[in-house]
Amino acid sequence: MTNLRLHKIAFIAAFFCFLYRCTPNLRLIKYNPPKSSSTVSVSESKTETVVDTQTTTAETEAVDSLSSFDTSATVEINFSSAFDSTIDTTSFATVASDSSLELKWYPPHKIVKRRVRIALERNTSEASFSTSKKIFLKTSTKNIGITAQKFSVRCSKDGRFFFSGSKGVREISCPCTLLTSGTEDLIMFNQVLYRGNLVLLSEQKGTFSVINHIDVEQYLRGVVPLEIGKRPESLIEALKAQAVAARTYTYKRMLERKNAPFDMTATVQDQVYGGADPEYRESDLAIKMTEDLIMVYKDSLINAYYHSTCGGKTANIEDVWEKPYCSYLRSVSDLNSSGQPYCQISPRFHWQEKWTSAIFFDQIRNNLSKAFPEKVRQGSIKEISVKESFSCGRVKRCVFSGNNWTVDMGGDRLRFIIRRDTPDKSILRSANFKIVSLGSKEVLISGTGYGHGVGMCQMGAIGRAAANQSFEEILKAYYTGVVICAATEQG
Ligand SMILES: [Zn+2]
Repeated sequence: MTNLRLHKIAFIAAFFCFLYRCTPNLRLIKYNPPKSSSTVSVSESKTETVVDTQTTTAETEAVDSLSSFDTSATVEINFSSAFDSTIDTTSFATVASDSSLELKWYPPHKIVKRRVRIALERNTSEASFSTSKKIFLKTSTKNIGITAQKFSVRCSKDGRFFFSGSKGVREISCPCTLLTSGTEDLIMFNQVLYRGNLVLLSEQKGTFSVINHIDVEQYLRGVVPLEIGKRPESLIEALKAQAVAARTYTYKRMLERKNAPFDMTATVQDQVYGGADPEYRESDLAIKMTEDLIMVYKDSLINAYYHSTCGGKTANIEDVWEKPYCSYLRSVSDLNSSGQPYCQISPRFHWQEKWTSAIFFDQIRNNLSKAFPEKVRQGSIKEISVKESFSCGRVKRCVFSGNNWTVDMGGDRLRFIIRRDTPDKSILRSANFKIVSLGSKEVLISGTGYGHGVGMCQMGAIGRAAANQSFEEILKAYYTGVVICAATEQG
């Protein structure tokens, strides 16, 4: 054997040693999930409606006092008797072929990996459940087996809990957990099927909360479809970008709320979550192909805000919210090489809203007096005018004035003052708007984009995927200077 051959062998051996060391962070992906969902599929129209009307993640930040949902609670609760982690519900669709194989290395980022806790309902006194397979109700003292039946849990005014099933009523202790017995078992609650376990937590005044306790990757299967809609496999890079953004958002919230009774809500306050119902093949595939991938900036998980349609330019976080400058949440152009916005495919790229003047001024005065009770007085509004806009187009200063009072405000809060004339008084689609006419009979406002404008533009991500950008290119276009890492268990 020549020296040259020995060198070659040594080199190859060293390479495989290196490969072995990196194994935990290698993406060796084989996938072929089922062609159809095992549960209810999402219709195109429903998905479009959800995407078009959704306010995502960071809408949460601006909702604050307007919401009845208190996510700031930090009450310490002992979950040890309620959260059972011995049953594995984490497996995905069976790997069945080598038709697609991807190998890529990502730097590791250590995090505490645990199941996420999603508040499905809070402060209820009664909840009904059903299951087609066997599940167990686990309390600190008992395990009750439940098979193929409907059952309910009720809390009395004096804080006692009662379980009602086909064999009658019995008193139970709380917290307790509804445990599934297999990986594909689902529990129905409020007409929605859920994977993982449901935990019932005692709240004040004879009420309790229903919390879904579920593996993060499984949770994402019920988030990605509702956050970005049903998309074909040709746009899978957009689905992958959405999966990484949603996963990063999830782990960040889990870190921040580790001492709270739950990590997130299932609504636009955090991320819209529909349990197992909206799952579909391409979304599952995108989640699996990006398993454990998260975005990191300077060794910290990022706040991965995202929104529907930026309108051509995203927003600096400090411009739209009362939050500090953030290096990775900068205003960036969303134009392609021909100068066309990637998100112009959005049905809400341009919009117009109309009100009768009486309704418009009435709601503005009501909303302003709630937001600025010390300033705004009764009487008619004399002036509403846009004085200045940011370079991204969103309004920096809008002046409202009446008899001896003036409010000068800008950014995303304007959307909560100028609400649309819809039955639920939904907020204005974006803060990038112009007042077209402010007449005595009718008010007309036109605008661009949908959502707060911070972080990833979801419709832009779809446009970029259609232009053959990878999910990494998409994410790095919207989150300045981030690194894509593989989440690894903090040992
Ligand atoms: Zn955009």
